[in-house]
Amino acid sequence: MSSSEKQDLLKTITMKELREICKVNGLKGYSKYKHNELIKFAAENLKISLPKLKATVEELSEQRLVSKIKDSEDYVLRKVVNIESYDNELITATVGNHKLKLYNFGTEDFSYLCDGKCPEYIYRVKHGRSPFCKHYPAVIAELIYEEKLDPTLTQPNFISGQRLEAVQEIVEKRRKEDGIVKSSGRNIEDSLKNIREDILEISCKNDALAREKYHETAEKVFKTLVDECFQLLEYETVFNRRNEGWDLLLIGTNAPKPYMVVVNCKPADSGSYGTHRNPNFVSNLKSQCIDMCKEQLMGVYRDYVKYMVVVAPDFNQDVIQLIPEFNEISGGVKLSLLPISTLLYLVENYRENPILTHYNSECLFKKDIITTEDVDELFKKSEEHIEELTSKARKVLRDRMTEISKHNTDSCYIKMDEVFLQRTLEEVISTLNPYLLKQGMSEFTGVKNVNINHDYYLLWERVLKGLTEEFTEILREQSLLQIQRSALKEDVIRYLGI
Ligand SMILES: [Zn+2]
Repeated sequence: MSSSEKQDLLKTITMKELREICKVNGLKGYSKYKHNELIKFAAENLKISLPKLKATVEELSEQRLVSKIKDSEDYVLRKVVNIESYDNELITATVGNHKLKLYNFGTEDFSYLCDGKCPEYIYRVKHGRSPFCKHYPAVIAELIYEEKLDPTLTQPNFISGQRLEAVQEIVEKRRKEDGIVKSSGRNIEDSLKNIREDILEISCKNDALAREKYHETAEKVFKTLVDECFQLLEYETVFNRRNEGWDLLLIGTNAPKPYMVVVNCKPADSGSYGTHRNPNFVSNLKSQCIDMCKEQLMGVYRDYVKYMVVVAPDFNQDVIQLIPEFNEISGGVKLSLLPISTLLYLVENYRENPILTHYNSECLFKKDIITTEDVDELFKKSEEHIEELTSKARKVLRDRMTEISKHNTDSCYIKMDEVFLQRTLEEVISTLNPYLLKQGMSEFTGVKNVNINHDYYLLWERVLKGLTEEFTEILREQSLLQIQRSALKEDVIRYLGI
């Protein structure tokens, strides 16, 4: 009886969302239909009341809008939103190349224009299919950021509830990046918890979970979670919110020779990524990595782009076979495949025992397909590396101390002057350069400086413990060995004439 009303409702959502409703409600045999047929089939056969369907559809379109607001974040963080004029009747602003005019903002007579090149505005907003394009929330966020708008006093049109929260989140992020509000630090535990719980499901395109928990599509959430994984591994990352091109860029800033890794995320509902749906797999990757990344950089930065990594739940054999083809045409960039289970294994191990450095971890990207065995091997190598650094530093300390104690020690003291101390410290420090710190010189003053890497705190603990042990050991040896009189005793004896 309500089939035609149901059809009208189902017309407003996407094919993908429609299929999901069918799946969730246990409707069988829906997958063979094309869009219009599916609408009819679903409207007739879905065992769900009209009010409930209405609520579901409304919720879906609400989530779509929240996700659109999240899409506008990039503009605000890149600082490409510019408020040109602001008064009660008219606000003009630019968002990148788009020019927006907001009339009667905050009132019932509100309307807005986004210039002719915004397809979303032309095809959706103008036809009443969507209240706004993604440029509009960018302007609202910028207005709040610049304190031209206080949403507790003026209700921004179309933006309230969950949507306003999403806008506020963007403003907050920008304020943190600009140092206006102090960040309460990184929330490592929460990120790790989300990754552990969801990344496998999300990598298999679980859209319902993605929407419910993260208010975005599974594709986007997958990208975000992979990004968080690499941040938890202490890589600096550049996140591409656009749908085209590469997804992430990792910067191995702390390596003696910095390197960059171009990352492509490929969720796959079957649980394993294959190229059958993408015959241009190799050429697409090459264009992402070379044309859209390497070629866009200047000078020495180009040479930093050395690796490309595809992250997926798992890989079919056909993808693995294409690696040599990519390596041949990529001008020296190496392709490697990273199954999500390996990435998770790497992150979990690292957070428990953060002894990896960008320098050591680079070897992972040289593999064709990165396995958990490779991760174990990496931890083993890193363990050896820190042992080696510690013993080098200990040896320098021992050599210098032995040298001085031969000539400048009595029964109480090993005597050192400032010059000796400084030289010894410098020599110890240079054994750790460039792995745990970077030595340099100020361009302006010519004063030497040392940049200590705080992400490597556990490695520092190991080195410093080693040095403490060595130092104490040297003192103990001298204490047992020295029988020479102290300077004080010498003086006393001289005065007493004994
Ligand atoms: Zn627009």
